[in-house]
Amino acid sequence: MMIYARVVQSFMRGVAKIITIPQPQLYVGSKMFHKVIDVAQYHGVKRLLVVTDQNLVQLKLLDPLLVLLKQNQIEYFIYQDTQVNPTITNLEEAKTSYLKHQCQAILGIGGGSPMDCAKGAAALIASGKKVPSLKGLLKVRKKPPLMMMMPTTAGTGSEGTVAVVVSNPKTKEKYAISDPVLVPQYAILDAALTMGLPSHITASTGMDAMTHAIEATLGNSNTTFTLNESKLALTLIHQHLIQAFHQPNDMKAREGMLLASYHAGLAFTRAYVGYVHGIAHTLGGFYQFPHGLANAIILPHILEAYGKSIHPKLAMMSDWLNLTSEHAPELVKAKAFKEWVQSHLKQLKIENTLVGVIQKDDIPHMIQRVKEEVIPLYPVPTYLTTQVLQQIYVTLGGI
Ligand SMILES: [Zn+2]
Repeated sequence: MMIYARVVQSFMRGVAKIITIPQPQLYVGSKMFHKVIDVAQYHGVKRLLVVTDQNLVQLKLLDPLLVLLKQNQIEYFIYQDTQVNPTITNLEEAKTSYLKHQCQAILGIGGGSPMDCAKGAAALIASGKKVPSLKGLLKVRKKPPLMMMMPTTAGTGSEGTVAVVVSNPKTKEKYAISDPVLVPQYAILDAALTMGLPSHITASTGMDAMTHAIEATLGNSNTTFTLNESKLALTLIHQHLIQAFHQPNDMKAREGMLLASYHAGLAFTRAYVGYVHGIAHTLGGFYQFPHGLANAIILPHILEAYGKSIHPKLAMMSDWLNLTSEHAPELVKAKAFKEWVQSHLKQLKIENTLVGVIQKDDIPHMIQRVKEEVIPLYPVPTYLTTQVLQQIYVTLGGI
């Protein structure tokens, strides 16, 4: 099985060389709602589907955009029922709204959930298929409608990735639809949209971005491009995450984190994630536990479980951030990087526990799901045994 997995990964590396993953046109700055109008006008869009969630509508965050759309005679239709973990029903409803109103483009605005819902609806519109049959790689294949994404959290990087993560509440599954056609054409980053984020969301989403960069780096499918993107993301996180947490109105820190999230997204959509995400997805699927927070809590445990095999990579990341002297031994550098992760958890006031969340009886089923997600697709540095995974769930759950 493990040999088969490595063969699949080497095949995927070959495929990656043939199928290039596109990058969005990136706009970064302030007052970026104007950019939505510019893009819509450039493409002759007269009817726009806006996919978001109720929280953002209630906060009236969209109002300035809606005024602009009206002034420019662009009709809009809002889909605002996206759940925290977008469901199959969410994707289908957004698709129905798009088709019913004969929209010509989709704007996803919000955290990872509305953006994934928007991309998922686009996948349904393009393929004409049902959600379960799109699970996995390269199942969409047809060109979706024009997509613009405006993140309001800095973590998922969905505005630049090939993936949509969707939940099936009936089966407690949480899985990805991945296809290069799902990379949005436009990623529009405006730090003002993230200014109102509560500090615990700044913390957990920031740790999601950190996990993307770290898992992409630790995997075996890196290229010079993905390593550079991860390095840039980690450097920005090093500079800005704690500041954004303590000073929510620091525009520079907020913009730095939006860029970190975006660049980490470009890295992991090409170099994949690993066990941290595998386990986090089970906690999302079984308990609706927030994704970024799950990653933050799981990350140190997986870094330990990988053991010495990842020390060279940890040392490299330590060097990226200049955590030790250049000449320090590899072990010292690796330890410094793990301490850097831990110090973020501490400073961001993230409690390193899932006591009361994980139910003992669910563990075997969750381990099975982790294995199905990780093997054969993720090029993880080391495969973890059932016993090791069991121990991680038990430790995290305090069982
Ligand atoms: Zn993630």
